[in-house]
Amino acid sequence: MLISTLLWLAVCCGFAVSEHRGNDTVKETTQMTHPLLLVSFDGFRADYLKMYPFPHLQKFFSDGVLVDYLTNVFSTKTFPNHYSLVTGLYAESHGILASRMYDPQTKKNFTTADSDPSWWDEATPIWVSVQNSGYKSAAAMWPGSDVKIHNSTATYFFPYNPKVTFQERLGNLTKWLKDDPAVRFAALYWEEPDHTGHMYGPDNTLEMTKVLKEVDNNIGLLMEQLQQAGLWGNINVVLTSDHGMAQCSQERLIKLDSCLNRTDYSVVDLTPVAAIIPLNNVSRVYSLLNKCHTHMRAYMKADIPQRLHYKDNERIQPIILVADEGWTIVQNGSLPRLGDHGYDNTLPSMHPFLAAHGPAFRKGYHLSSFNSVDIYPLMCHLLGIPAMPNNGSFVKVRCMLVSETCADLAVTVGIVIGVLIVLTTLTCLFRLMKSRGPSPSRPFARLELQDDDDDDDPLLD
Ligand SMILES: [Zn+2]
Repeated sequence: MLISTLLWLAVCCGFAVSEHRGNDTVKETTQMTHPLLLVSFDGFRADYLKMYPFPHLQKFFSDGVLVDYLTNVFSTKTFPNHYSLVTGLYAESHGILASRMYDPQTKKNFTTADSDPSWWDEATPIWVSVQNSGYKSAAAMWPGSDVKIHNSTATYFFPYNPKVTFQERLGNLTKWLKDDPAVRFAALYWEEPDHTGHMYGPDNTLEMTKVLKEVDNNIGLLMEQLQQAGLWGNINVVLTSDHGMAQCSQERLIKLDSCLNRTDYSVVDLTPVAAIIPLNNVSRVYSLLNKCHTHMRAYMKADIPQRLHYKDNERIQPIILVADEGWTIVQNGSLPRLGDHGYDNTLPSMHPFLAAHGPAFRKGYHLSSFNSVDIYPLMCHLLGIPAMPNNGSFVKVRCMLVSETCADLAVTVGIVIGVLIVLTTLTCLFRLMKSRGPSPSRPFARLELQDDDDDDDPLLD
């Protein structure tokens, strides 16, 4: 049994070594050969996949990887999350904390149309790292890609313009990838289904059905164009999003005017995460806000929960208000939009999906979830470039890759049970053979017993 066990171990180890060596070759080839395309469909909530048909997306991930949902970063807004995807950092670390910010050092205000690099320079996006590694990058409307971050935009880019159609963005991106082999990383951004989700709310199934069909058709178009350009199958593609969407209602309004005077504070950003600067007695303003509404939490900056990773940055204001899911903070007046995001990043309605396809990815592989900051080390690995310090983990995403030796739990349990069955069977066979085999001494012993039967029987004594 010992010999068979050793043989089995030797065989297994041999397989493991040869597979690992083989994978190193695959990894090197992948890094040297295949470009990477990162696509974001803004506001694509993870559970839309369970609620609506996506024939093209289904085709995409049936031959690749599907991740049910990502835990994104707080606040679950567009700009913080898009910058987290390309830096692997939480918002407090990359400095793009919201769509509206105030910097007390420079006394500047940020809006999404701002092209001042100082807002972005606290981190280095992957396209800058790609260029620092001697390659080129291309970006179609990805937030920040047209800003000179660390003195550099993406190599090929458009200035942001929401009127440029998906087809035009895709057409240019495909051309850049096809015509210039030095382009290793490309990023594509599309405003839907976020825009429709805000306007009608995610519960409006009629409107969401329409827009999600368009999004799915765009995914079909993407596969088709990459195929026509000869890139499909040779390019690694990651489809994901920044956040989900929650249904809001006129019945779920939190009115700050009913709690304190406007002369007591100024507002940097309002809903669903409000950034408040108190203008007089700080503890009094906090106290008024803290008891303002049962569906809104108020935090002094120092008391913001650590798990949100939304504390350690000068651009975070002295008081933060966080509305419960589906609630809207206003000073007064009516509901600004029927759908919104920005809420707590543990809420399932805030989570985006992820699907991946390409030579580096397993086929028909399924994962439950990981953090959106984990995508950055994955992308650096695929591109073979050094990752900047980040909050992500390659260990959590590596099983998506064909180059990684990675058995899932079911397979591991199956192997262990199989080995136990084989070993038990071998042991039983060995014992059976031993018990049936000829024994040189026992027949003589029996003969002796028979011969001396009368003499040795104690009853006859
Ligand atoms: Zn968004």
